[in-house]
Parts: sequence; structure tokens; C-alpha cells
Amino acid sequence: MMKNILVLLLCAALSASFCACTEIGVENSNETESAEQSSSVVDSTVSSADTETSEDSNESSNVIIDDSSAPDVTIDNSSTVDVKYTTTDDYSYAVTLSTEELDAINAGSGREFMILVNKENKLSDDYVPQNLVDVRNTRKDRAPGKMVETAEIALYAFLKEAAYYGYGDVTVTSAYRSISYQHSLFYNKYVPQEMAKGLDRESAIAAASKYSAFPGTSEHHTGLCVDMHNLSAASQTFGSTPAAKWLASNAHRFGFILRFPQGKDDITGYMWEPWHFRFVGVHYATEIYESGLCFEEYLAADNEAEVG
Ligand SMILES: [Zn+2]
Repeated sequence: MMKNILVLLLCAALSASFCACTEIGVENSNETESAEQSSSVVDSTVSSADTETSEDSNESSNVIIDDSSAPDVTIDNSSTVDVKYTTTDDYSYAVTLSTEELDAINAGSGREFMILVNKENKLSDDYVPQNLVDVRNTRKDRAPGKMVETAEIALYAFLKEAAYYGYGDVTVTSAYRSISYQHSLFYNKYVPQEMAKGLDRESAIAAASKYSAFPGTSEHHTGLCVDMHNLSAASQTFGSTPAAKWLASNAHRFGFILRFPQGKDDITGYMWEPWHFRFVGVHYATEIYESGLCFEEYLAADNEAEVG
């Protein structure tokens, strides 16, 4: 049965653009639903039951600096995945970072944060990240999100620098989501809903998978990623804003990667998500950024290099 589910998920991934983060209304979100409230009727082009409530934000930017160019960085251009082990010593930052912040950004050189989670690489049902802390940059009208402590400290530094460049209105709208919650939602709500329509259990699971992330397959279960933007709801329109462009081109200096880049849908299984950033540490974030590869491609190339 599991194999069938994976095949179905793979087929679905190849046939449609999916969203890893938002459940509903990615392109046009005026909804204010949460996973607990939402019905199972969802546009089939959008997958994942991981939620993002889409409430209006009254926040506005309080830092206005017209220079949005990135600070000088001293990194060689490279299209390979040779390990250079870049550290924060190789970067200059506009804001002052604490030792704790620099240590967090520099963490992960032992691949501690290189865990791959996607539709084909599922976390076990009892997986719970260690050292979850409140995300200080959570949007103010929401309960604080949770994130692995090291990643949260690096994120705080990242958004401190973003604010310096005029993007202080970028806030976190979604962070850690537990597998147990997703498991319960999936099996206790969506699957029974589908079975009530007359489907057998296996068919019901497949049907539910079209609009709800299969438990364990969302990167948000790792506690290493966030959705952040300055819109009322996540939307690809964010990707063309100066804020999103700054985040995308500076994330690696703080240990983050844009996890679902444009044009990689068929590999990541998800549509372009200019709001979803994943922590891996500055070493690998820099390598991935410079390589132009998405995370899956980078890991595949890296494995080949090790085997070869
Ligand atoms: Zn996300």
C-alpha cells in the first residue's frame, strides 16, 4: 500500500505544481482558514495540508533605506559543488552580529542540518526536533512559531540585516508543524471524509493526499524552515518584490537556502515558493547557492562526488 501511495504522490508531483507550505489560496488568498477549519474542497493544483492562515497584516515597514544592494561578499563564483567550507569570516555584514549569532550561522559544517524531507523522503511518525524555541520574528498577530534554536538564532540575524536594508516588514507566518498534528488531521479527518464518499481506505488516502500533505513529508516538520514575507498571505507575487529578491540573494550568508526555487518544480515536487527558507548552515547554504542547484540536485551531485 505504501508503495502505491508513493507512486501516486510521485505522479501527482509530476503532473501538477504543488505548494509545500500553504493549504489554500496560494495565488489569490483572501481565505482565513486554518487546517483545523478548512474543508477538503481545495484546488487540486495546490497540495499540502500544512497550514498558513492568511490574515491581513497591519504591519508596515518602519525602516526605509533606498539602497537595497547587497553588501560586498568575498566568495569565488563557482558552479561546482566542491566543498569550500565558507564561514562567516568570508562575509561582511551591515549589522553587528553577536558571537552567538555568528556561531549559529556557522553551525552545520558536519551536515547536521542537511536532512532531506520531501514526498519521497518521509520522516518517521514519531520524529520531533530537539531544542525548539519561539521564533522571535513571528508576525505579531500570531502565536509564536517554533523552530530549532540554532536556526532561529541565525534567522534572527538574517532578518536584522534585512531590516537594515529596508525590509523590516518581512515576518514569519509559519514555522514548525508537528507530524502528530498532521497525522491526526490526515487520518482522523480527511481520510474518513473521503471514505464517507464511498472510497475504500487506500483510495481515500490517495484522494486526501491530493490536497493534504502526507504526514511526515512536509519540511516544516523538521523545525528548520520558515515561511516569511511581507504580504497578507503567501503568494508568488512576493517573488518579484525587492524584499524577496534581497532575501533570496542574501539567505546563504546566514545559512539559509530558498528551498523551492523557480523552475525546479519537477525536481522538488513543489512550485516556486519565494517565501520558504530552509536552514542548513552557512557552509552548505553557500555551496548550494553558488551551484545554482536545488537541494535535491545538490545532494545527488554531492553523493556522486563522494561515491566517485
Ligand atoms: Zn513553507
